[in-house]
Amino acid sequence: MSTVIAPDAELVRKLALANRILYARGVVDGFGHISVRHNSTPDVFLLSRSRAPALVDASDIGCYNLDGEPLTPVDGNPYLERFIHSEIYRARPEVVAVVHSHSPSVIPFGITGQRLRPVFHMSGFLGSGSAHFEIRDTAGESDLLIRSPELGKALAAAMGNCACVLMRGHGSTVAGGSIEQAVYRAVYAELNAKLQAEGMKLGEVQYLTEAEGALAAAANDSQIGRAWALWERELGLAKG
Ligand code: MN
Repeated sequence: MSTVIAPDAELVRKLALANRILYARGVVDGFGHISVRHNSTPDVFLLSRSRAPALVDASDIGCYNLDGEPLTPVDGNPYLERFIHSEIYRARPEVVAVVHSHSPSVIPFGITGQRLRPVFHMSGFLGSGSAHFEIRDTAGESDLLIRSPELGKALAAAMGNCACVLMRGHGSTVAGGSIEQAVYRAVYAELNAKLQAEGMKLGEVQYLTEAEGALAAAANDSQIGRAWALWERELGLAKG
């Protein structure tokens, strides 16, 4: 254990809240996790100990370095897949928050190699489409979990600059510039998957162009606070 500057208490509170919101929105169940980069130490990130996201509170949250090693004592076990987070933060300095989930509507896309593409303005952040990660290329036959820095690096490389990477036979991971944006993206990746699958059954889908996606994403990014306030209120935890 080395010393680390204590993270901002409001950031810790918001990360705990994000765990509960992701559960309430159906993105995570007993599994899945969200992290945030430390507010003053960019090579450190905050993540809960291994718990179901809906049960996470501020006291569960600790600090990790970019090798995925805990810098603060972990009461219990760390998440096995913390290397998803560490290696995305290492590869992408602009990323501030990461959500990993097994949200169900996205799974069919990962197993068919079909990209998630934006079918409506709310998911413009998908741009030209999701990235795809095939774990067999690195691990051969495995339990499909990202349980080492090597696998985390391979995932981050496959993700490139995309907002969302699909993990074949496993789930998906989204990255954002804030906790709110990463949660928004996780929620709307799941909804987009549902709608895209429905659209594909009906006929040829007209996706947003890259320009439309970029414009829509910019508009939505300025409005995320509206959804966040609702999601927080729905948990019965909001002030006022
Ligand atoms: Mn997983």
